[in-house]
Amino acid sequence: MQQHPEPARARSDHRKLGRELGLFDTDPLIGAGLPYWLPDGAVVRHAVEEYIRGVERRAGYRHVYSPVLGKRELYEISGHWSHYSEDMFPPMDLGGEQVVLRPSLCPHHALIYRSRAHSYRELPVRIAELGGMYRAELSGVLGGLTRVRAIQLNDAHIFCTLDQVADEASAALALIRRAYRALGLRPARYRLSLPGPGGKYVAEPGMWERAGALLTEVLHRAGLPYDAVAGEAAFYGPKIDVQLTDGAGREATLSTVQVDFFQPERFDLHYLGSDGARHRPVMIHRSIIGSVERAVAHLIEVHGGAFPAWLAPTQVVVLPVTDAEVPPAAEFVRRCAEVGLRAELSGPARGGLGARIRAARLVPYQAVLGPREVAGEEVAVRLRDGRRLDARPAAEMIEEIRAIVDAHGTGLWPEAS
Ligand SMILES: [Zn+2]
Repeated sequence: MQQHPEPARARSDHRKLGRELGLFDTDPLIGAGLPYWLPDGAVVRHAVEEYIRGVERRAGYRHVYSPVLGKRELYEISGHWSHYSEDMFPPMDLGGEQVVLRPSLCPHHALIYRSRAHSYRELPVRIAELGGMYRAELSGVLGGLTRVRAIQLNDAHIFCTLDQVADEASAALALIRRAYRALGLRPARYRLSLPGPGGKYVAEPGMWERAGALLTEVLHRAGLPYDAVAGEAAFYGPKIDVQLTDGAGREATLSTVQVDFFQPERFDLHYLGSDGARHRPVMIHRSIIGSVERAVAHLIEVHGGAFPAWLAPTQVVVLPVTDAEVPPAAEFVRRCAEVGLRAELSGPARGGLGARIRAARLVPYQAVLGPREVAGEEVAVRLRDGRRLDARPAAEMIEEIRAIVDAHGTGLWPEAS
């Protein structure tokens, strides 16, 4: 088994950094495992979510919204009630009915698929949602963004023919790997999660074998080394897990690709084949970054708060040397904002230039405006990593930074510059 260790960089606890950087917090009155996002944290989360939505849109997914509640009966049909109830919140009684905070998005998406007739020509149908789900974690294990009771999941379900499963699962795995490059994450290993002993899994040996064989083919096709592990499958099918290691060296799963023959049966899903007869689709469950909370926790730790430019809460800090440069500095901030960059003015009222640069040490681009720059209608930019760029016209600088941010990479500036 080939290991890809994280770069040797000091990694801090996301809970400590999250508080220091003003990204998220909790309040006992809201409750344990229910963090809220402060403005800077909300910016990071929003950037991640928009990136994911864009990538999915371009890969042919259609986005939906579905409610976080469902009737108990829905989860009895999906099998969650009998296989997963210990992780679910207790049902709420409502006018003679019981409703449940959903433990997953799958049943809602199965119903959305079922709500319309589908011909084989439309397949694969790819339904995506960044939606809320809930897990009744015990209060003793809750903390930060990694163990929470309210989860925002980057989820999608692909309804397709058996012949399309390997291609669709491969494409999903490729999306995951591409997103990791943009986010600056490195998988520690790939895991093929299979059922273990015990009654937690639906018992249909033929289904498990077929689904396991398809996922093995996907891993072989991608040329990825993997470990097959018993006891980690979802109750309805095997899955590929992309494993990461956290700051303490513990493994965590963000991304998964699962093949499921069970839910389509339970929800009686079908499509009209070229032969005019009804056929059962296969359901692929896949998540590129898993829960947004867990993904951002991991990003905070991996980058130590120094996020890639496209994720940084503030992308450009503008530093007038004296009060005389404050008006042109404010104008530069305005021009950055106009093209969608997140820029902030840090003027002499906040202290000497050196102190202001230190305070902005996590901001990717630090634009200094002194009398010389203002006279020459230029800006001099210092990168977070200490590199200094030649002064250039403001419009040119803004355009170059915007292009780097839009490219969703991890580099601050092209090396040749
Ligand atoms: Zn699912």
